[in-house]
Amino acid sequence: MDIEHFRKKLEEEKARLETQLKSVGQTHPGTPDDWEPQRPEFNAQTSDENEMADVFEEFQTDASIEVALETQLNEVKAALKRIDEGTFGKCIEDGKPIDPERLEANPAAARCVEHTV
Ligand SMILES: [Zn+2]
Repeated sequence: MDIEHFRKKLEEEKARLETQLKSVGQTHPGTPDDWEPQRPEFNAQTSDENEMADVFEEFQTDASIEVALETQLNEVKAALKRIDEGTFGKCIEDGKPIDPERLEANPAAARCVEHTV
């Protein structure tokens, strides 16, 4: 298996996810790996009710996108860690090799077909 090929794919995916995360979320100094949805900016004194409802709705959408992206990012990071540890391409449940085609489609795949929910 060409590990470097998958490492490159995973690094690209990681960069892509981080860019997307920056548009819907933020990290704090000290916890750069912990993303949270960006707080909406509005002035409660001047915003009318409809406007506040819009802002809140947008915040909820961003928040669910943020959670999904962060989950993907964590999977990609875990796969990169497995490359470093030499366990990449093996099912984390039973250690069986993961189908190369499956890895090609999703290099962050952590489980063989049998153990995928
Ligand atoms: Zn398995």
